[in-house]
Formats: sequence, C-alpha cells, structure tokens
Amino acid sequence: MTFSRRTLNLSALAAGLALSCGLAGAQSYPTKSISLVVPFAAGGPTDIVARTLAASMTKTLGQTVVVENKTGAGGTIAAGAVAKAAPDGYTFFIHHNGMATAPALYRKLAFNPLTDFEYVGQVIDVPMTLIARKDLPPKNTAELIAYVKANATKINLANAGLGAVSHLCGTLFQQAIGADLTTVPFQGTAPALNALLGGQVDLLCDQTTNTAQHIKAGTVKMYGVTTKQRIKSMPDQPTLSEAGLKDFEVVVWHGVYAPKGTPADVIKKFGDAMRVGIKDPAFATRMADLGAEQIADARQTPEGLKTFLGSEITKWGSVIRAAGQYAD
Ligand code: ASP
Repeated sequence: MTFSRRTLNLSALAAGLALSCGLAGAQSYPTKSISLVVPFAAGGPTDIVARTLAASMTKTLGQTVVVENKTGAGGTIAAGAVAKAAPDGYTFFIHHNGMATAPALYRKLAFNPLTDFEYVGQVIDVPMTLIARKDLPPKNTAELIAYVKANATKINLANAGLGAVSHLCGTLFQQAIGADLTTVPFQGTAPALNALLGGQVDLLCDQTTNTAQHIKAGTVKMYGVTTKQRIKSMPDQPTLSEAGLKDFEVVVWHGVYAPKGTPADVIKKFGDAMRVGIKDPAFATRMADLGAEQIADARQTPEGLKTFLGSEITKWGSVIRAAGQYAD
C-alpha cells in the first residue's frame, strides 16, 4: 500500500515536472542558437536568402539563427536529414521548389514533403535568369537558341543537381528548344556560377539572388528572366517568353520547415520572428536589390506553405513525368 501510494505520488510529481518544464520551455524558447539548414552550398542564392533572414530573425529571437549548409542530391539529402532531426525547436530548414519536385524526380526518397514536416511559412519569391559565360558569342535569346541548336554537343549547362531549380529551369530550356545538352552538377549554384565566371561551363539558369550582381557588373552574359513580366530591379532585361521562348516561366519560392512533432508554440514563435524578419528593411531592401519579390502575408503562414506545396507537387509532378526525368 505504502509502495503504491509512493509510486502514484512519484508519477504525479513527474507529470507535474514535465508539464512545468514544457511550459517554461515554450515561454523561454529559444535558450540556445537555432540551426537553419540550407540544402545547397554557402554563398549561393538560397544561402543568401537564408543568411539575410537569419540575421533579421536573430534580432527578434535573442538567440543566433545559425545557417548550416548540408549539400547533395539536389537538396534531398538535407530534407531527409531534417525530417529525422529531433523536433525540439532547434532545427529548421529552408528550401525552394525542390521540396515539391523531389517526389516526381526520385524513385526513392528519405522523406515525404507532405507528412514528415511542420510548416512555418513561405519567405519570398525569386525570379531566375538565363546567363552564360561572358564570351559566349550569342548576343540575345534568338541568337542563343540558334547557336545552342547548332553546337549542342559542345555546350554544357551547369546546375545544382537533380531537384535543384537550376536543373528544372535548364530542363525546361532544353525541352523548349529541342536540344540535349551535357549538364554539369555542382553542390549549389555558388560553385556553378564560379565555374561560369571561370569559363569552365557555358550556361546557367539561376536565381537573381545569385546572378543580379554579376548581371549588373557585366561579368556574365544575360539572356532573360524567367518570370511572366519583366522585373522591377532589372527593367531593361527581357523575359525569356518575350525573347522567343513563349510561356517560359519559373518562379522560385522559398519555404521554411521543421521536423514533424516540433511543438506548435515553438513553430508559432519561430514563424512570428520569420514574418517580422521578412518585413525588416535590412532583409526587404537587400532582397529587392537582388530582384526578389515580397509575397502576400497569407503565404507566410503554415497553412499558406502547406497548401502551396501541395499545389506545386501536382503542377511539377506532371511536367517532370512528361519529361521522363527521374533518379533512383
Ligand atoms: N540555385 C540553386 C538551385 O539550383 C540552389 C542554390 O545553390 O541555392 O536550386
């Protein structure tokens, strides 16, 4: 009898402690630095969005948001690792359209984008640009199409691996002009752009958050933007659609995720800091200078991300299956 009462009392004490620790945890969160995983190389376009946002969020959260680059397999290595990480509020993940294209591209995937994560919200939209090494002869998109068709066996196209938006955009470009080019995968488009600047690769389709400064400085050759309309930060640059690749459109969107089971109040606190960060002039101005476009508040919410992700999985799934592109 004494033994069972003692057991009962100890269990009640343990439950009470767990509850009070949980509440204290939520109120005082975060008590240490938070890791924001980027699935591509440092210095690239996703990394630049992540680091600029992390700096703004650090001001609100009072703890450092540390960017961690975990590269490989077009972003799927990082997504798989985050899906298995402890759901303790200290691991978050920023990715792009690759979260939606991976299920159609990979026969075996270590994560399910729609069931293995908690959703924080979307961050910003980023146009892409089709660029070339500075000395590639074609002066505009019409000349580029003719040149690439005539020299298909000699031209190579850099990307950040199967699942990267650079790969997706490059695939759509090849489909649009009916060419089959040699592709060169990198761990991200920071090293891909370096190879382009060094003349080791010929063409790259990449986000303006990586390419804008080089386009403005004239260190790469620019053919066009992948949006429907011309973009505010580069009004003189044509869209690829108006330049001859009719209806060519890719917009990169970034979403923030956490491992499934991360407590709702932690997601809310991190998400609120993210939404404040998006509006912070230090983030907003830098992003606008780099050609990125602010998104509606509704898309910055967990529901906004999850719904959008679902529609993108459907949209890109059929495009990719039609192209017959996938990996084991
Ligand atoms: N822009 C890259 C991509 O093609 C990724 C990166 O390096 O941020 O997906």
